[in-house]
Amino acid sequence: MRLRSLLSCLAGLCLLSGLAAAQQCATRDDTAYTAQILKNTTLRQFDTDLTNHLPFSSCVDAPDKFLGHIVGAPNVLDKIETIEAYMRHLESQSKRVKVFDIGKSEEGKETIMVAVSDAATIANLDHYRDITAKLADPRGLSASAADALIAQGKPMYWAAGSIHSPETGSPEMLMELAYRLAVEDTPFIRNIRQHEIVLITPATEVDGRDREVELYNHHKAHPKDPQPGLIWWGHYVDHDNNRDGLTLALDLSRNMMNTFLQWHPTVLHDLHESVPYLYVSTGTGPYNPWLDPLEINEWQRMAFYDIDHLNEQGVIGAWTHGFFDGWAPNYMLYVAIGHNAVGRFYETQGNGGADTRFASAPPSDTSLQWYRPSPPLPRVNWSARDNINMQESGILFSISNVAINHEEFLRDFYLKSLHSVEKAATEGPAAWVFPGNDPRLGLQARLIDQLQYQGVEIDRATAAFSAAGTVPGGSDKAAERHFPAGSYIVRMDQPYSREADMLLGQEYYAPTAPPPYDDTGWTMGALANVTTVKIADPAVLKVAMTKVSGFVAAPGGARGSGGVYAINANADPNIASFRYRLAATPMQVAEKAFEADGHHFNAGSVIIAHADAIAIANAARATGVEATALAAAPQVPMHALAAPRIAVMHNWQSTAQDGWYRISLDELKIPYTYIADTTLRQTADLRSKFDVIIVPPVGYSLTSMLSGVSGAKPIPWQNTPDMPDLAPPGLDSTPDIRGGLGLAGVEHLEQFVNAGGLLVAVGPSMALATDTGMAEGVSTRQPPQGPEGLNARGDVLRAEVSDANSPIAYGYNPALDVYYSTGLLLATGGGGRGGFGGRGGASGRTSGIGSLTEPNVFQSRPSDAALLKESLGGHNPTPAELAAGRGGFGRGAAVGPPPRVIVRFVPDAHDLLLSGLLVGGQAIAGQPLLVDARHGQGHILLFAGNPFWRNETSGEFSLLLNAAMNYQSLNVGTPAPGRGGRGRGRRGGR
Ligand SMILES: [Zn+2]
Repeated sequence: MRLRSLLSCLAGLCLLSGLAAAQQCATRDDTAYTAQILKNTTLRQFDTDLTNHLPFSSCVDAPDKFLGHIVGAPNVLDKIETIEAYMRHLESQSKRVKVFDIGKSEEGKETIMVAVSDAATIANLDHYRDITAKLADPRGLSASAADALIAQGKPMYWAAGSIHSPETGSPEMLMELAYRLAVEDTPFIRNIRQHEIVLITPATEVDGRDREVELYNHHKAHPKDPQPGLIWWGHYVDHDNNRDGLTLALDLSRNMMNTFLQWHPTVLHDLHESVPYLYVSTGTGPYNPWLDPLEINEWQRMAFYDIDHLNEQGVIGAWTHGFFDGWAPNYMLYVAIGHNAVGRFYETQGNGGADTRFASAPPSDTSLQWYRPSPPLPRVNWSARDNINMQESGILFSISNVAINHEEFLRDFYLKSLHSVEKAATEGPAAWVFPGNDPRLGLQARLIDQLQYQGVEIDRATAAFSAAGTVPGGSDKAAERHFPAGSYIVRMDQPYSREADMLLGQEYYAPTAPPPYDDTGWTMGALANVTTVKIADPAVLKVAMTKVSGFVAAPGGARGSGGVYAINANADPNIASFRYRLAATPMQVAEKAFEADGHHFNAGSVIIAHADAIAIANAARATGVEATALAAAPQVPMHALAAPRIAVMHNWQSTAQDGWYRISLDELKIPYTYIADTTLRQTADLRSKFDVIIVPPVGYSLTSMLSGVSGAKPIPWQNTPDMPDLAPPGLDSTPDIRGGLGLAGVEHLEQFVNAGGLLVAVGPSMALATDTGMAEGVSTRQPPQGPEGLNARGDVLRAEVSDANSPIAYGYNPALDVYYSTGLLLATGGGGRGGFGGRGGASGRTSGIGSLTEPNVFQSRPSDAALLKESLGGHNPTPAELAAGRGGFGRGAAVGPPPRVIVRFVPDAHDLLLSGLLVGGQAIAGQPLLVDARHGQGHILLFAGNPFWRNETSGEFSLLLNAAMNYQSLNVGTPAPGRGGRGRGRRGGR
């Protein structure tokens, strides 16, 4: 076969000739480097003819000349500055290399992309970028013009290293790859340079790379010091940093997306390290159903090409068809996959640094399977160089595949782009419309801009129009709708129609499919609480419209004249941004809806009297809220709207989740203090410092939250001269990370709530309040397990506001779609845990009158509330009596002020699922999703879902933000005692 002849020149000396003589540089084998490669490779089966040597160049310095060690040397890793400096050193010595700055990280570090090809191509990169840009947007491109471009063009293969910071090999490997591609003079490498442009980003997550390397090298220098794990990878999130593909909130996501849109690489290859020895991505399916079949085929053929060629070289343990599913579009790889290019990844066996170590693997990774005919060994000695060899050999075969078949890969890219443009007329829909009269224009603008970050084109209707459409989760039957001028239109006859349709549509993950690897539902309009309408009829494309240029903002500002301003409550988080922007200005909240000067204002609307008109107008414009000047304040009950002092807690075990809270709050410019569990343990008077403490999902059990990190002696997390990047501004440091929250921390939180603070606990962190008795009348329970148990995996589910009078629900409609993944469930009412065992008992109620959610009515006796009152001699219980009676009604029966269920899942299990995988929904149908419990003077807000999930759940942000700004007035709207309204008056104070 052709590759064989290309490889035939690999051994020994290959002197320059012909085209490659652009630089008169003699090459020969770099015998010292080659000897080091062979010495550090533990098995011949972990190397190939591509990487078992390195050429010496008389013009260009090999990595060891610059670094002082070969790539893959044991016990040493390089920081990003060093790696980028080496790439620039290559650029200075070789006309085949060019380095581009592709953007800064959150902590100000540079991310680069290195282009390697032959010198003539590098000198004409703009020309080749112009070709891929034209193929990426085939509108108006004739078939013959496309053919000509494909014949002239060069595919671009983009290798991206270490997005996951503890996966340390790829940034090292990519230095050697760049050098090898630039200097090696074999037919195999020459063919790559001639027909392809290789792009290399050595580390996608540059902040995390440096923290990891500092920790590792420090440990090598001070082996007796305690070694903490990598607490922060990037500035915000750790492993989730490649799950930011929907909203592109992280700098790395935007850097990669922007670079893609400038270059249109044909393939993006992400390098990961987790399983032995080389897993090539295809996934098991079900595949994302929006993808072009060509994309799916390319995954398969590229994977088998790599494995086939590795096997020809005698390599063992290369395999495919496992590991993940290929369903969710939340991966960083959707920078390519969602934009008509190929996105793929490797998982190689890493080294936890650069150690050579004895490695064992479970049967799940070593069993013989049809997709793994030469499985990895159960046990082996594994070196950093082994990892380098596997990655570099595999990706060289991939790159060579694209070079050999350069026209076909470019043609497939063009065809996928063409099919996307044709989508409106073939599979449809024709467009998605965002109505101009959406009540939440701030959230709408946010979502429109998230689509624009993806390169999706947006149009805006210049006149009103009508079209039949459907909304996700609504009736399947299209209904005629009227859209005002100013409505946004996302046309499906554009290159990135597929990405837009995928993000906005509804998805169904069958229970019979292989278990999902990550989220299964993501419908973004639903999660943003924004109306999106899918239009099938292509006539909508003829509506008068103009292209939106630049990012959009919600129309904010002040209107009218008068001494009092009102801002309509619409559950838009921009209202919180506005509140904090004018933090010193007193503001009130109208507790009831009202009409004024011809406008309707919902309950919860913000009222500002004695306002500085200019300051209001500026703040309203900057935050995208509409402030209406009124002649007089409305005659409705009001209370103060606070700009509370917020703390966001983290622990020292994992910062996986708290970062999503920080990034969304930062985006909204809502200030907060980032505080450790250990600090809460050591801080007695929390109430004097904070009004609201948010505990994101930080642990899997109460025990782990209380005990935290353990160790025999103090474990510091602090900057040192050799570790200057551990704790940059905005992150945290401590002389000792041990000890967790501890009982003292729980006591401090209890005192904080008791003294009037608001504690927000999310997901597993709810146990802090429920399992300690702090959240009176609320309990948590594990969801039912087993085949008939609950299986919700990152879904969009339908919920409803069940206590519209609570300030937490201000601005919300009765119906609300939420993110949910199987986790701790909430129950209100005494005796929680005891009664939930059997099937049908999931709600905690026993058989009786009413529905699952409607309270029972006990026959031939007055109501519970009436009996309680009578037992007290005819008065309703005073707070003192309630406090004194706490716990006195038998096992677990709390008698404090009843908790309020603010949001619950819809009552019928058949109506629950909007998008994703759901089995056993009856376990959650009608169940509480958000509960407001009282304790002492304060409140505890318990979220069974997660209102700040990966920056996707902007529609839920205001549940938390409303609670925070109204933290002093959360009792507003509580039904008078003894009335026994819906959902309360149950035994045990429900
Ligand atoms: Zn990874």
